[in-house]
Amino acid sequence: MTWTVSSRTLQKKDLWTQESLYALGNGYIGVRGNFEETYGSGLKEIRGTYLNAFHDVIDIPYGEKQYGFPSTQQKMVNVIDAQTIKLYFGEEREAFSISDGEILDYKRSLHLDQGYSSRKIHWRSPRGKEVNMYFERLVSFAHRELFTIFLRVEPVNFQGLVTIESTVNGDVYNYVNPDDPRVGAGHAKSLNVVKAEVNQQRGMVLCETKTSDLQVGCLTEHEIHPSSSRMEISSDEHSVSFTYECFLKQGEGMELVKKNIYVDTLRHGNDLLQAANEKMDTFKHLSFSDIKDAQIRYMEAFWKRSDVEIEGDSSLQEGIRFNLFHLLQAAGRDPYSNVGAKGLSGEGYEGHYFWDTEIYIVPVFLMTNPELAKQLLIYRYSILDDARNRARELGHKKGALYPWRTISGTECSSFFPAGTAQYHISADIAYSYIQYFHATKDIPFMIDYGAEVLFETARLWTDVGHYRNDGRFAIEDVTGPDEYTCIVNNNYYTNVMAKHNLYWASMIYHELKKWNQKAFDRLAGKLQLDDQEAEDWKNAADHMYLPYDEERDINPQDDTFLDKAIWDFAGTPEDHYPLLLHYHPLTLYRYQVCKQADTVLAHFLLEDEVKPETMKHSFDYYEKITTHDSSLSTCIFSIMAARLGDMDKAYRYFIETARLDLDNTKGNTKDGLHMANMGGTWMAIVFGFAGLRIKEDGLYLSPKIPEGWSRYSFHVQYQNSNMKITVTNDELKIELIEGSEVTLKLYGERYTIKRQTPFARSIKETV
Ligand code: BGC
Repeated sequence: MTWTVSSRTLQKKDLWTQESLYALGNGYIGVRGNFEETYGSGLKEIRGTYLNAFHDVIDIPYGEKQYGFPSTQQKMVNVIDAQTIKLYFGEEREAFSISDGEILDYKRSLHLDQGYSSRKIHWRSPRGKEVNMYFERLVSFAHRELFTIFLRVEPVNFQGLVTIESTVNGDVYNYVNPDDPRVGAGHAKSLNVVKAEVNQQRGMVLCETKTSDLQVGCLTEHEIHPSSSRMEISSDEHSVSFTYECFLKQGEGMELVKKNIYVDTLRHGNDLLQAANEKMDTFKHLSFSDIKDAQIRYMEAFWKRSDVEIEGDSSLQEGIRFNLFHLLQAAGRDPYSNVGAKGLSGEGYEGHYFWDTEIYIVPVFLMTNPELAKQLLIYRYSILDDARNRARELGHKKGALYPWRTISGTECSSFFPAGTAQYHISADIAYSYIQYFHATKDIPFMIDYGAEVLFETARLWTDVGHYRNDGRFAIEDVTGPDEYTCIVNNNYYTNVMAKHNLYWASMIYHELKKWNQKAFDRLAGKLQLDDQEAEDWKNAADHMYLPYDEERDINPQDDTFLDKAIWDFAGTPEDHYPLLLHYHPLTLYRYQVCKQADTVLAHFLLEDEVKPETMKHSFDYYEKITTHDSSLSTCIFSIMAARLGDMDKAYRYFIETARLDLDNTKGNTKDGLHMANMGGTWMAIVFGFAGLRIKEDGLYLSPKIPEGWSRYSFHVQYQNSNMKITVTNDELKIELIEGSEVTLKLYGERYTIKRQTPFARSIKETV
């Protein structure tokens, strides 16, 4: 059960949510879980297919545009629809739709272990014809351009004509909602059809974006059984249609395989027709079951190194596997793409990439599939020039300021207090390069990519910050992760992350000379760097001002946070959450109220910067004033509650995280899945319950087990070794599955895990 998410109901109110839950993707293509035949009878849907990083550029309208506000932004475009397959029965062509006739049996499933979805329907038409239909669809991991659908249709109580009409349509729109800042407000139509044409058995639709000058093509071909079915292919100005007709006896079946190849000018050159045809030629000999076999093999390899098992709660087990599967589907695997806040499952946040990737998603891949983590980091390297330009625009003489939200590299945030002002994103990116280095010790990667990113982000901090009269290095007028408190001086999170960034930039500066003097000379020449500047970074790090309140023994979120009045939580009606949809930002800024973990997150990421008691006091303090209106919050509170020894609380926060989308607890899963939270579920188990940390001197582990669970296990990839860690009520077991021996710190003591002898010890003696 925990390998398959299933639904047997067709509640209209849940259909949009399910489109996101049943979305399929491979990091390049994303297809929402729409019904091939649509819902019928005017029932609306958010029908969507997306290509990672494929975007249009739209104007940002301002009433009072100030200097440095971005004039345009990118928007993920809903591309050509290849999902549509309509079915008609009998001479009178009764059309199948869930809005008409009667559903006698229905089951939709997402097969997490095998990477595809299926839908089985037993339907009775308004005139009494009963039909069995079975759909399977998959977006291939092995062949990145391929989205394919299998259909079997079988008359149950009649014989007659069955017509299948499959289309590829370029006349598509994006979803808009002007009242929700978390989805796009305007510009529903971003794509124009260039041509729709048929060539032999293949149909191609080619479209271009209105402004960004990108093209996308979809080439489609079918296999049909029985092959004697009558066939007709036609095109109009924006679509291609394939019609297949066959006379079927009762119990006889008709099968269709629809293969769709997506290509775009970011990745496939300018002749998309040729590129798509070449791809189709290479897939031509593959049957649906060949493609499915390759998918299953890919998924087996993924789960072998990524599965998390939980014994004692099957709904949470389902939650973690569901979340990991969707993360895998969302992660971009080329220098153009990353992970959108909603992955490729919906249009929320317009497909933009945020800090969510580095702080909530990279850690999961880093510890399970480091190759994917590396790809995500390479994307940030590929937009480094844009970040440099943005820093200049913001008046910084040196350094790189990463955009708060973007696709192609330029800032897309029009609301700078909770956008551009979140300078911490540059330190977050640096942090994840450093974590990558700790976990992999990949020196060539640090030489080719990491060093430059660390140096340029460090430069930002020395430029934006300054020394106060008391000698402390201060950073003014920025926003931390908590978006209910904006433009403040010395946000603790920002300062401590900047300190880490500066320190590591100066460390790597010196290491680089030792690793490869030539590479050092090249980079130092390119960036005009010298020892003095590296010294300046070190100094700024050493003197970084980290706000501390002695009386409360906490780190204040910023210089003035504690002076503000506490939000009137008792007087806030339940239906006024999330607060951002009910209060003007200024109202929120005036109070102590947090949208999400901020200082508490800093304590998790950089725990050695703070005493355990202070951490505890901060946790208690901020917990009372945090609404968790952002889905990036509860997982961090879970991790920190576990860190501080409150496993019950850790578990309560974990539950909120694990099934957030499956149970639609935020109410907006229709706009796409909450990717950062999905990473957060894994983090809450591995960093929270199991206490894993990756530091300069290696791995740290201090597992505990929540009450009610009898066992949990997970995998950790560290350098070239893969370990399986199993925790039961009384025992901790570490098996080295692959690679050479690993030394780690377990509950503070050093142990070496060897291949032949699995490590086991009672957890009772240590906790
Ligand atoms: C959160 C941000 C996050 C963004 C995208 C906002 O609601 O406050 O921290 O980056 O969503 O997920």
